[in-house]
Amino acid sequence: MREFGYQRADDVSGAVALLAADPDARFLGGGTNLVDLMKTGVERPGRLVDVRELPLDGIEPTSDGGLRIGATVTNSDLAAHPEVRRRYPALTQAVLAGASGQLRNMATVGGNLLQRTRCGYFTDLSKPCNKRAPGSGCSAIKGEHHNHAVLGASDHCVAVHPSDMGVALAAFDAVVDYETLDGPGELPLADFYLPVGDTPHRETALPPGALITGVTLPPAAVAARSRYRKVRERASYAFAIGSVAAALDVEDGVVREARLAFGAVASRPWRARAAEAVLTGASADGETFAAAADAELAAARPLPDNGYKVTLMRNLVVAVLTELAEEAAR
Ligand SMILES: Cc1cc2nc3c(=O)[nH]c(=O)nc-3n(C[C@H](O)[C@H](O)[C@H](O)COP(=O)(O)OP(=O)(O)OC[C@H]3O[C@@H](n4cnc5c(N)ncnc54)[C@H](O)[C@@H]3O)c2cc1C
Ligand code: SF4
Repeated sequence: MREFGYQRADDVSGAVALLAADPDARFLGGGTNLVDLMKTGVERPGRLVDVRELPLDGIEPTSDGGLRIGATVTNSDLAAHPEVRRRYPALTQAVLAGASGQLRNMATVGGNLLQRTRCGYFTDLSKPCNKRAPGSGCSAIKGEHHNHAVLGASDHCVAVHPSDMGVALAAFDAVVDYETLDGPGELPLADFYLPVGDTPHRETALPPGALITGVTLPPAAVAARSRYRKVRERASYAFAIGSVAAALDVEDGVVREARLAFGAVASRPWRARAAEAVLTGASADGETFAAAADAELAAARPLPDNGYKVTLMRNLVVAVLTELAEEAAR
């Protein structure tokens, strides 16, 4: 492991200034991803600017009825917060579906959004990988790719984003707040992750050196009846091979509003807007739910070994929406 410097930031502007002063520096949240990548040599920062002690660890209601979640809130505190559990239950479920208790105690909201892919070639320095070494090629396309993307990928990279939390945030139209030397800024989650294209190493639209300060969830009554369902290869402590965050508002058997986002199918949490369009105003039954899933998955371009994800996601969408509709009918 390369030697590196360590500095704890006292305040937000100080953290941003420290990073701006050293192009070789990186922010350190819980370190549960960054430090692992440093050990394997994928990341080689010369300095870490620790942001965990910054006063960004609150979860507060916003004046319009939403919630503002600080960037250094741990995954455990986020999942346990009474207002998150009550108003955005799928977010609590998504966070609890990820990693382990110990990791969730360390991992932060900002770090979770910026965690890197779990593609095995990305961390294997002996293999070509466009994301790690631009222009070197993608080993996964003709190699091991059973848990890679079926939506929105490119010939340059087919990796998936591993975050569970991000999937629920995508369904609820979260906005990422950040700070740079030029002042504060914000990015809707829908615009936060860049399309893969031919630059898979460029993952987000954050300006260089930006510190994520928090995530704002707009008010969404529909989110109170929401669910996160994750499929993985073992029952706990495993990344998703497919997941769904869904919310449904049903009145007299008709869908008034639906929110749907997919995980582990694309380079970013995938908001399923084509499916939502099919659902809205339609009868809340299995036929509609299957048609919604098919509308979204029509764009799927599976590789030889991950076509199962299309069937898996279709079944997952139908199952989760059926459960939510049954709950609404009770
Ligand atoms: C064994 C294991 C299993 C896991 N399983 C899952 C799982 O099932 N589901 C899941 O979603 N996740 C899982 N994770 C990933 C885990 O959730 C992430 O490692 C964690 O959320 C990252 O948060 P962190 O605060 O530790 O980030 P760090 O490792 O500290 O940082 C990650 C990145 O974010 C940057 N960063 C951190 N904070 C900020 C900030 N405020 N502003 C700007 N940049 C910042 C860092 O510079 C770095 O690039 C697993 C991890 C491990 C090790
Ligand atoms: S899928 Fe992406 S991360 Fe994996 S080897 Fe290809 S370029 Fe690298």
